[in-house]
Amino acid sequence: MAVVKRTSSNSELSTALENFYGAAEEMGLSEGLIEILSRSERMLCVSIPIEMDDGSIKVFEGFRVQHSSAIGPAKGGIRFDHEVCLDECEALGIAMTWKCALAGIPYGGGKGGVCVDVTKISKKEKEKISRTFAARIEPIVGAWTDVPAPDMNTDGQVMVWFTDTISKMRNRLEPAIFTGKPPLFWGSLGRNEATGLGVATCAIELLKVEGIDPKGATVAVQGFGNVGSFTAKFMAEAGAKVVAVSDLSGSYFNPAGIDIKAAFDHISNPANKKLLTGFAGAEFKEGGDAVIFADCDILMPCAGGSQITGKNADKIKAKYIVEGANYPTTPDGDAILKSKGIIAIPDFLANSGGVIGSYFEWCQDLSGYFWSKEEYNERLVKIMSNNFRDVWAYAKEKNVVMRRAAFMKAIQRVADRVEMRGVFM
Ligand code: NAD
Repeated sequence: MAVVKRTSSNSELSTALENFYGAAEEMGLSEGLIEILSRSERMLCVSIPIEMDDGSIKVFEGFRVQHSSAIGPAKGGIRFDHEVCLDECEALGIAMTWKCALAGIPYGGGKGGVCVDVTKISKKEKEKISRTFAARIEPIVGAWTDVPAPDMNTDGQVMVWFTDTISKMRNRLEPAIFTGKPPLFWGSLGRNEATGLGVATCAIELLKVEGIDPKGATVAVQGFGNVGSFTAKFMAEAGAKVVAVSDLSGSYFNPAGIDIKAAFDHISNPANKKLLTGFAGAEFKEGGDAVIFADCDILMPCAGGSQITGKNADKIKAKYIVEGANYPTTPDGDAILKSKGIIAIPDFLANSGGVIGSYFEWCQDLSGYFWSKEEYNERLVKIMSNNFRDVWAYAKEKNVVMRRAAFMKAIQRVADRVEMRGVFM
């Protein structure tokens, strides 16, 4: 009996399913495992009634999807955005299963969110939404069941509201349910820089296996927010020359190397509103995507999704792409990269430093013993380097590109646990 493949009209869920079925087929995964892993274990929809500041009542929709707990508790962010829906949460939850499995951390995958336009709510309303959402998903989250984290438009403060609400409901402190909390309240030193450090570590390992000295290698970074700025900083510290950076204000080029510390100082000035607008010491070009075509060894897209597409991939000059953002390359863009022989390190390998950092926070919360930033960074670099080398060797062994190798390796790890644990009853 052939597997009846799931399809979806939601583009993210459709891509997640296509990626899974494609890799599963190439691996020769059994039909039963394909059936199990193509579905989510649990999907919860909740309503969130709130009394708004003007006294009116509004009801928001919220979701939490647990795709797999075969390896360990579901892990994945909670976002607040007007486009949040159940299908999007499932797509992102599936992606988290593979990301955690590939990272080699003891988690499954999950994702959640609230459908709300954050530009239209006050801080008080955001707190009420956060607390009511936490109360509604309380029956299914826990340090050993489901461990959410911040995502789009949620941050350390929201994680504190979640933790506080559930701790009060259960009458005991529950610090290990939510990660991404501030260091002042059961968070961890190092988390802020973790994703960028991981992206840079992957890029440096890639240069090493390709026989290129990171000192003097040229790099272009799209996006200068959390991921992009720290990626650029760690690349510069490794001796690479960051020849271009960009953000929403435009692209900035300097073939002699951009002064990353000066760029950090620039975005830290409150007058510049976290943007590079007016940054001196580089040639300005309109558009944050001009950087994609920079003359460099490594292009590092760290801004948003769908930046490298069928329309622009053929103009890329870089030999390597290391994906800091989630889904920066569309499938048709990826096909062009493959045909040009450009080596792309996939997002769920390259940006897994963030979730590995969350795992470190969970370990510290469970033990009540906190690490120094040096210990945190050292462990992160070690795990990221090993993971990169593992996937690199597997890609060579199977003669597939890095993205396919990463999917195959991750899916196999989850499938092995499902087989070992068995189908219940
Ligand atoms: P952020 O909001 O801190 O930064 C985004 C940056 O991209 C900003 O500098 C913004 O100006 C810039 N930008 C937006 N559109 C652009 C465009 N078209 N061209 C050039 N620059 C543009 O976000 P972040 O936390 O750095 O996340 C960036 C990406 O990395 C997202 O895809 C996110 O999902 C992914 N990611 C983040 C983490 C994390 O720990 N923060 C972990 C894994 C993946």
